[in-house]
Amino acid sequence: MYSKETDCVHNQQKHQGVNTPIYTSTANRYIGYNEILYPRNFNTENQKAIVDKLCRLEKGDAGMIFSSGTAAISTVLFSFLKAGDHALFSQEIYGGTAKLIVEEFPKYNIDFDFIPNDEIGRLDCLIRENTKVIYTETPSNPLLSIVDLEVISAVARKNNIISVVDNTFATPIIQNPISMGFDIVVHSGTKYLGGHHDLCFGAIVTSHKLNDIIYQSALNFGGSLNGLDCYLIERSLKTLALRVEKQSSNALKLAKALQENSEISAVYYPGLESHPNHTVAASQMKGGFGGMLSFKLKDDSKTEEFLNRLQLVIPALSLGGLETTICQPSTSSHASLSEEERLEQGITDALLRLSVGIEDADDLRRDILAAIASS
Ligand SMILES: *Cc1c(COP(=O)(O)O)cnc(C)c1O
Repeated sequence: MYSKETDCVHNQQKHQGVNTPIYTSTANRYIGYNEILYPRNFNTENQKAIVDKLCRLEKGDAGMIFSSGTAAISTVLFSFLKAGDHALFSQEIYGGTAKLIVEEFPKYNIDFDFIPNDEIGRLDCLIRENTKVIYTETPSNPLLSIVDLEVISAVARKNNIISVVDNTFATPIIQNPISMGFDIVVHSGTKYLGGHHDLCFGAIVTSHKLNDIIYQSALNFGGSLNGLDCYLIERSLKTLALRVEKQSSNALKLAKALQENSEISAVYYPGLESHPNHTVAASQMKGGFGGMLSFKLKDDSKTEEFLNRLQLVIPALSLGGLETTICQPSTSSHASLSEEERLEQGITDALLRLSVGIEDADDLRRDILAAIASS
């Protein structure tokens, strides 16, 4: 057993080179071989090298790499849900996941409910006889609210329901839901695992038993990834711990500085003691609280001017990369919701979501505060 920093860097499979050779063949000899090697069989050396590393980091036994986070999520959900089943979802989940549920599930006659994060305590009452999956995400996007993973996994276990958590925001460096009783962890690797704003992929980590089931559906859905991208993922994972540690410490510094600014009305970061679920966050997140934070400008008519005045921080979608990026969720990631739905979730036009990078924290602080002061 090594620490996460070590597991990020080293591969367990031994090759003559310290990196896994890039394997691009889609046609493979089969006479004399036990296994049919094929990218969509999820069994090439490059895929296996990354899965092995992610299993160590997420404390799981088996997993798969997909062509996007959404491919991973849809494959997992449709592996366990069929017509007549019911699933429970946290209300505060990634917009694309909510879209998948709302637009696709009715076509297959799969029933679902969304639960606000502050009502997780009554999860027990929402379970039906046909509930097969409970799915959550913590910290949530964009308001960084926290759900207690042990509470959810205990309810799921007691009722024999498959529990799934999207661990994209926390990363395996900070949070290991499988150790807290969860069955399946999913990731949009496009964010922190890739970490350089240049890869799109997804991942799952789970037990051998559940992975075998998901694998059968994954073969049919076909969301696999090629060897060249896998090579870049392997390279990215080597610095995952370093990046996330720096992003988290930068985010905490910025959250504290923003909290003290009189032009800012609210700061959402689980590492702040003022966060309503700081205690739960501190018990289930280790070594930091992640690189994502949100805040609200007091005067929401100044949002656009503020974004235009930033010199260093880049107004851009997506998150988790080396460069600090910022977005206004009401006009970007959550624009597809109605205004009423947005306001119900607290996503006003004044809300800004910051994905903190690895730059110098003081440079970032000065850039943001200067843009606030002059807008
Ligand atoms: C981006 C994201 C996804 C979707 O991942 P893709 O790689 O874009 O398909 C899922 N969950 C979370 C939390 C995300 O941020």
